[in-house]
Amino acid sequence: MRDLELLYRQVIMEHYKNPRNKGLVNDSTYKTIHIKNPTCGDDITVQSKIENGVVKDIRHDGTGCSICCSSASVMSETLIGKDKSDAKNITEAYINMLTNKEYDKTIDLEEAIAYQGVRKFPARIKCASIAWKAFEGTLEESE
Ligand code: ZN
Repeated sequence: MRDLELLYRQVIMEHYKNPRNKGLVNDSTYKTIHIKNPTCGDDITVQSKIENGVVKDIRHDGTGCSICCSSASVMSETLIGKDKSDAKNITEAYINMLTNKEYDKTIDLEEAIAYQGVRKFPARIKCASIAWKAFEGTLEESE
């Protein structure tokens, strides 16, 4: 278990240092949502481009703690290329995992599983979910 926690921490730090898909685009085919987490100072914007029912691209930018910034990167990498319905299911499963609710464990959370340790730190759950919630918001807008 300790080794697994170490591995998870490495995933989080790696995405924090080398974020994927960072930087916003000036393109009206993307839906944009901006969310702040006042308790930690996280401030993040997520853009998504959904085309023919597929998540074509996700961009993110902002400032925040390592949990928040890295989770935006992991979220983008996990969800790009997925069907919209799969992306929605993964997002729901991830948020339920974080908040200790029942979730469908047959859904592959890929690297996002690294955040399961965060549920032990209630103050950080919002940090780990804010980017995903923003993505969820862009999905609703594109409906
Ligand atoms: Zn935070």
